[in-house]
Amino acid sequence: MNPGGADAQLISRARGALLGLVAGNQLGVPTEHLGTPDAIRQAFPNGVTDLAPPPKNSPYDDDAAMALLLGESLLASNGFDETDVARRWAKWMKVDGRGIGITTRRALTLIDRGKEPFEAGRLANQENPGRSAGNGSVMRCVPVALRYHNDPDRLIRVSTQQAAITHSDERCTWGAAAVNLAVRELLHGNIYFVDEVLHRMGDRAPRVLRDAIHRVEIAFWFVHHDRSLEESLIYLAQAGGDTDTNAAVAGALLGARHGEVALPPRWMDQITGVEGIAQLAERLVTAL
Ligand SMILES: [Mg+2]
Repeated sequence: MNPGGADAQLISRARGALLGLVAGNQLGVPTEHLGTPDAIRQAFPNGVTDLAPPPKNSPYDDDAAMALLLGESLLASNGFDETDVARRWAKWMKVDGRGIGITTRRALTLIDRGKEPFEAGRLANQENPGRSAGNGSVMRCVPVALRYHNDPDRLIRVSTQQAAITHSDERCTWGAAAVNLAVRELLHGNIYFVDEVLHRMGDRAPRVLRDAIHRVEIAFWFVHHDRSLEESLIYLAQAGGDTDTNAAVAGALLGARHGEVALPPRWMDQITGVEGIAQLAERLVTAL
């Protein structure tokens, strides 16, 4: 380790990525079901600028909860073990499950009844083809980028595998790979990452490439924009649509770009277990 040098910067970016994801998620939850910017303005005339306190015994919405469990599994299993990840997610669904999407619930219910993880993801997709291409696999994928930032082939493989446990549609699996390739470039200080992402995905996923990039386009756009992490996430939380997931993914990318210092101190105070999250990120990015 080299305090103040490249390692310290990498660690700060990793901590920023995971904390940014949790902050963006928590900021966007109150506006998630309101639909339009107008409806959000009516409900929140003073704007949405603080992280609302979570309900008792439910510190994290689904995006953050599943991401943190994925990160903990990668460390506990010393790599990716779909059975361990699926078990942790299914347990969370039963004891909390706040914010869980339809496709994720279906797949995890099948797993809870004994189906193999990838089989459950395939079945959930087959039961509802076309309608199961949600963003449930993208919002939680970032710990994989932290763990495999030095191994892009494995980063791509594990990104798609964690997606396939609940979302086997290839728009979802490749969407997760695209986000994590972008996070990887930002962790390494390359802010002009889109070319690199397209290059690395291009040979393998030509048919779904445009779809996958399109799905995460709004988050990518914000990273190139000149607004700060705080301004960007506040904008997204008030922009309508899937506010909590858009802000979570953008938060991860902007945190990976700017590091932990980009998180406003009041948001750090409003996140449950902030130091544990930061340490999880640090352990993932330094794991060998
Ligand atoms: Mg959510």
